[in-house]
Amino acid sequence: RKSTVVITGASSGVGLYAAKALAKRGWHVVMACRDLAKAEAAAKSVGMSPDSYSLMQIDLGSLDSVRQFVKNFRVSGRSLDALVCNAAIYMPLIKEPLRSPEGYELTMTTNHLGHFLLCNMMLEDLKKSPAPDKRMVILGTVTHNPDELGGKIPPRPDLGNFEGFAQGFQDPISMVDGKKFEPVKAYKDSKVCNVLTMRELHRRYHDSTGITFTSLYPGCVADTPLFRNHYPLFQKLFPWFQKNITGGYVSQDLAGERVAMVVADPEYKQSGAYWSWGNRQKKDGKSFVQKVSPQARDDEKAEKMWIFSQKLVGSF
Ligand code: NDP
Repeated sequence: RKSTVVITGASSGVGLYAAKALAKRGWHVVMACRDLAKAEAAAKSVGMSPDSYSLMQIDLGSLDSVRQFVKNFRVSGRSLDALVCNAAIYMPLIKEPLRSPEGYELTMTTNHLGHFLLCNMMLEDLKKSPAPDKRMVILGTVTHNPDELGGKIPPRPDLGNFEGFAQGFQDPISMVDGKKFEPVKAYKDSKVCNVLTMRELHRRYHDSTGITFTSLYPGCVADTPLFRNHYPLFQKLFPWFQKNITGGYVSQDLAGERVAMVVADPEYKQSGAYWSWGNRQKKDGKSFVQKVSPQARDDEKAEKMWIFSQKLVGSF
């Protein structure tokens, strides 16, 4: 039996190269994407063989779409061995918040709330799977952590006391802490929520299910389309800067390989771990379990994140 992995946002960047790496290892990849024609072309462009993947529609920025995706996956009859929550948007230049169909701010919805719902629903699919080794992996990033160099640049993430979530997260509210809209902070806040979700899933469900819950920072993948909404000059200079000044640069191929290792290799079967290869890439650099940011390791915050997110997404 081929192992099956669902990867969200597999139509470009880290998700696409993770799909390629896992297909190469003999996995069947369900590419969960919002634009299936783009995903199909992307799979072909990296040379994935037609029988190594299937395409399924999901828009993480719509909770109904997430629910529909899970229904469709169940109809497909596949059993699930791993889920990779990778899709994300980063919109540094917008002045006004965009909204999901539910009226929630879109960066937080796409990156966190959609995945929070997906993880909770697909937990059931993982539980049902007969596989001995089942994993759920959520992409993190160094910018979630102000304790690290890459995370020191303002604005810093701050979940506050979840005031914005508590008040319903709809217009005029756009930030988790209820403060003024700041698109870069919205991205960083959503990534803190991603790490908190992984840790809380681990705390709640690892012992009873045996599922391995992990997160990772694959390195600075400076030339993915994630930065497509930034100034053109930034898009030109950022990869050069990361290659030559910080040494943080990682190719899309290597980032995809790292995700594949965390999904499939026995060394990474450590639930609750946040894997990193460091901020400066060395030749043959080894991975290690990295301490997450103060907010992301705060158990009280994790509990609050869970309760408020559950309220916003509704029943699983
Ligand atoms: P990309 O922009 O290249 O890829 C993002 C993917 O998410 C695309 O496939 C995109 O689809 C998809 N996506 C966006 N919105 C939605 C939506 N509403 N529904 C479904 N899919 C959606 O970014 P990266 O590959 O760089 O980023 C992937 C992950 O890696 C993110 O979680 C990011 O935080 C993380 N990361 C990236 C780093 C980097 O340096 N690039 C560093 C650390 C972490 P479409 O193709 O249709 O736009």
